[in-house]
Amino acid sequence: MKNNLGSHVKKILVTGGAGFLGSHLCEKLLENDVEVLCLDNFFTGKKSNIAHMLGRPYFELIRHDVTSAISLEVDEIYNLACPASPVHYQYDPVQTTKTSVIGAINMLGLAKRTGAKILQASTSEVYGDPEVHPQVESYFGSVNPVGERACYDEGKRCAETLFFDYRRQHDLPIKVARIFNTYGPKMQPGDGRVVSNFIVRALQGAPIEIYGSGNQTRSFCYVDDLIGGLIKLMATDDRCTGPINLGNPVEFTMVNLANLILRMTGSSSELVFKPLPQDDPLRRKPCIELAKSQLNWTPKISLEQGLDRTISYFSALLTAGHL
Ligand code: NAD
Ligand code: UDP
Repeated sequence: MKNNLGSHVKKILVTGGAGFLGSHLCEKLLENDVEVLCLDNFFTGKKSNIAHMLGRPYFELIRHDVTSAISLEVDEIYNLACPASPVHYQYDPVQTTKTSVIGAINMLGLAKRTGAKILQASTSEVYGDPEVHPQVESYFGSVNPVGERACYDEGKRCAETLFFDYRRQHDLPIKVARIFNTYGPKMQPGDGRVVSNFIVRALQGAPIEIYGSGNQTRSFCYVDDLIGGLIKLMATDDRCTGPINLGNPVEFTMVNLANLILRMTGSSSELVFKPLPQDDPLRRKPCIELAKSQLNWTPKISLEQGLDRTISYFSALLTAGHL
């Protein structure tokens, strides 16, 4: 497609574009003079996440599964297709591994044919239950390859391998982002992730379930910050491949998080303690020195600011009867 001035408009493919991060990314990309192809099989994505973009001339929706090859003409690919919450990725673990591994092969093949730059949404889960804290990109990780989380963790690790092999073998312009826990509006209320679970329970006045002692930690990044980091990474020159951590390094225990959400929602939900799921990482916090130096990126939105926006989103769903 050409713009009003007759020049070529960059075509950007976002796989998993109807999901939580993918839909925010499509929206942000459309602020510029580019064409966005949103590809999704709607396993965890929702039409409502992208409905408001469907009428725009530079937005196109493709219903497709990345485990099958596809022929398109594109300049950039953001490969986000993969269920991300434990409840969803453990629902059909074989399909999860296929999505990461075969999906990566198909998208890398597409990048090779078209000469597109390609970015992989990798994850802090490649570090498993880490012995190195905070996690630096040079740490190889500690993943149980036969546990319940392995379909996701090992699938993502193998995808990273494929990206770097395509780079070495075919000189592809690749970018690998290791994304740490990200939250914000459009998270699915029922997908089991901690921020959405706690907010929904608090708003409903239902008990907040803490798995294990609640002393395990996570570092939460607001979605707008994260999307800004992905776009900055894609804009780097060919020498910058990553892997590069993207996340907010401020670390919280799950008990801290629950108490903060209780205070911010004014809820009197009680805290109840449930067993810790298998291989649940004890601590997680990104070292973001590489992102600072190579992308000039740091997250700007504090947990309180981000939670405030996320709580408003879920309150509106509750008022509309959608929770
Ligand atoms: P999400 O589940 O909301 O989005 C994933 C999207 O991929 C959904 O729209 C889903 O329908 C689609 N999808 C799944 N399998 C597919 C397939 N085989 N073919 C085509 N589409 C498929 O999850 P999210 O939080 O938006 O995560 C997006 C990406 O970012 C994932 O790759 C995830 O691993 C990665 N990531 C997310 C986080 C986070 O905290 N949200 C952290 C680390 C990494
Ligand atoms: N968790 C919890 N209660 C919930 C959901 C999750 O205590 O209702 C815990 C979970 O065991 C983990 C942390 O919160 O220690 C983050 O879980 P999430 O699934 O959001 O992310 P991940 O474990 O994949 O980092």
